[in-house]
Amino acid sequence: MAKKITPMMQQYNEIKSKYPDCILFFRLGDFYEMFGDDAVTGAKILDITLTSREKGEDALPMCGVPYHSAEGYVAKLTQKGYKVAICEQVSDPSDPGIVQREVIRVITPGTNINDIDGHSNQFVVGIADGKSGYAATFCDVSTGEMLVGRAATLADLRSLLAAYNPKELVAVAGLSEHPKIYEMAQNQGLTLSAHSLSQPKAKLKKHFEVKTLNAFGIEDDPIAIHSAALTLSYLESVLHTDLSNIKQLTLLASDDYFDLDQTTIFNLEIFHTIRDFDRRNSLLGVIDQTATAAGGRLLRRWVIRPLKNLKKLQERLDYVAQFRKMDVDRLRDELKVTYDVERLVSRLSLGYGNPRDLVQVKQTLTAIPRIKGLCVPKLSRGLPGLTTLLGRVEKAIKDDPPISRRDAGIFNDGYNKEIDELRLLLGEGKDFIASLKEQEIGATGIHNLKIGFNKVFGYFIEVSKGKVDMVPDHYIRKQTLTSSERYITPELKEYEEKVLSAEDKLKALEDSLFEKMIQDVLNYSEELMKLARQLALIDTLSSFAYLAKVNRYSKPVLADGSELKIVGGRHPVLEMIMPPGSFVPNNLQIDSKYFKLITGPNMGGKSTYLRQCAIIVLLAQIGSYVPADSARIGIVDQIYSRVGAADNLARGLSTFMVEMEETAYILRQATSQSLLILDEIGRGTSTYDGVSIAWSVVEHIHDKLKARTLFATHYHELIQVVDNLASAENLSVIVDEESGEPVFLHQIAKGAIDKSYGVHVAKLAGLPDEVVARSLQILTDLEKEIMAPGISKEIAS
Ligand code: ADP
Repeated sequence: MAKKITPMMQQYNEIKSKYPDCILFFRLGDFYEMFGDDAVTGAKILDITLTSREKGEDALPMCGVPYHSAEGYVAKLTQKGYKVAICEQVSDPSDPGIVQREVIRVITPGTNINDIDGHSNQFVVGIADGKSGYAATFCDVSTGEMLVGRAATLADLRSLLAAYNPKELVAVAGLSEHPKIYEMAQNQGLTLSAHSLSQPKAKLKKHFEVKTLNAFGIEDDPIAIHSAALTLSYLESVLHTDLSNIKQLTLLASDDYFDLDQTTIFNLEIFHTIRDFDRRNSLLGVIDQTATAAGGRLLRRWVIRPLKNLKKLQERLDYVAQFRKMDVDRLRDELKVTYDVERLVSRLSLGYGNPRDLVQVKQTLTAIPRIKGLCVPKLSRGLPGLTTLLGRVEKAIKDDPPISRRDAGIFNDGYNKEIDELRLLLGEGKDFIASLKEQEIGATGIHNLKIGFNKVFGYFIEVSKGKVDMVPDHYIRKQTLTSSERYITPELKEYEEKVLSAEDKLKALEDSLFEKMIQDVLNYSEELMKLARQLALIDTLSSFAYLAKVNRYSKPVLADGSELKIVGGRHPVLEMIMPPGSFVPNNLQIDSKYFKLITGPNMGGKSTYLRQCAIIVLLAQIGSYVPADSARIGIVDQIYSRVGAADNLARGLSTFMVEMEETAYILRQATSQSLLILDEIGRGTSTYDGVSIAWSVVEHIHDKLKARTLFATHYHELIQVVDNLASAENLSVIVDEESGEPVFLHQIAKGAIDKSYGVHVAKLAGLPDEVVARSLQILTDLEKEIMAPGISKEIAS
């Protein structure tokens, strides 16, 4: 028969039932305990011993972690996608009856601010839907940022998620098409929750203390409102605070920008390479030369949201040009001294603040005047000095305070009279106890007498067993050890009392003053956030100047219109990977002939060329210099891409289906101001099918879209198609055959090439000699046969 459940386990069960999807950390003295399934999961992931509460049929799996080192354990769990509910003892354990307990916060993958990667945002995304599509609100509690994006279709939503890369997804409970969103979240490895709230609009107005939401641009957008309020409400419910650090809401939809789609982010290898998911050799891996974490985050934001507003672009480029003439190395050194103020302010306002955070605020503020002196004047003026705040923190906080606010020693001597007095008392007490040792040795003649301290008995006098006879009568025996005895004396206890109470008082006093200090700092939170954002802006813009200097980039000339002229263009990543000087630069000139068909052998450099042209335009439109001798760019309203056969097995679609979906998307969305890079359209099906599709796509783009397009293909039939189109032109990669063996020069030139050199590439790839020889033989035979023109050539060459 099962035993009656203890009151504590009853309490546990009640609390656990409210947090079924969390691992409950149940505080028991100095430990957080996990029970039941939580314990089984916890023990496995945390690699700690699983024990059992009770035995036999009442056995309940159990494991625990020390409370003072819980942070690391929680991080391990949230990294694996789990949510952890922290349940604390909230009544005094010495009170009669069972200790009361409460969950004081839930730590989730998207809200664990003790475990963050500085250079990325840690977003939680909240999704709502309605007739006009979806809204996704991205919120980073560690920086206080909140961004709202709209998506007409599920594909657009997927692109938004790919761009902002959230850690966690919360959907409106009862959202239509839930399964699809859930599937998407699962594919991206996101932790999922459903949440609901009533009166979303009222909720937002109250939070931002505004009468209407006009200023945020979402007053009349119930779906956006719903997703923003949902996200806020969810975060409040897990963090158990009112998120006062979130003061702004930014609408992502704007005529000034365009959002790169998921496919293009992937194809241009912006965050990682396609082949091995390597980050270092991604575009960002090369162009991210920011000196601060916040600058890195801003750059990430810019890359996925290029500008299409000429004036704003010119402004960014002009700043970079000015930084180009300045000493950016010194500026970068100074920026590296600063801390992540956005995250510091958020830590303080969420109640995670510790004394070191204030030291970091201080060090950052100290660097500001130097940064101002090294910076473009107009940007310097946007940096608040915050000298009053700096003065206050400098006066108050020690340079090297303890890590925990629960320890004494946070404040400078002379800052507070009461602290000084307590410190004096404490010092005297400690001095006295130290001197007591000499005094007692003198009085008793016990030369190896020691004074020690432990948590149970406080201060004690220790005498080895051999000298016990010499102990005077007024010593009171407290503890017997194998080789010694421990005693106390009334005098020792009197001083101990003084020391300990002074220490307690000091800690309590410093802690309460520290709390006041935090509130003081938070009174400046808006200015501090402004400072943080301005520093990030300065960092990102000056990092472009630095990048231009070290990688020899040039300032692009931007205009409205559809010109696109690149001289000596390079692929920014490939040129870094290859031996210096071996990358072959290429030109591109698009004027009236906006459609370029590129033919040439595999491995000739077509994909590289397509990507590098798109990347140059992308870099120019985030305000960066570009890897080219010169570039004139009529700004584009979107970059579309379809490159190679990307591995989309996760979505369970065939390669051809994916290819056609992507092509369909581009043909529907693109405008005459877009840039299209299309590689091998139609490859995923039979030659006839493929050629027909590619052919009609070429015509459609040329006749209807009239968009600047680079179209690489193996279908030599298209060469002639293009020859007959007014605004299209053939380009190809040059192959040098003078020496007999073909040499790929990786150079793009006017004119077509209708040989594939497949056998040559096969040989380079290491196909056995006999297979190569035989295939050459077959090829010669085939070429001799009279075949229908067109398709035959494709097969034969
Ligand atoms: P394709 O798309 O024609 O098959 P890729 O663009 O994939 O060819 O290029 C194949 C290889 O050729 C690259 O991995 C690189 O090593 C080399 N390559 C391409 N472009 C250049 C270039 N401009 N300069 C030097 N090497 C290049």
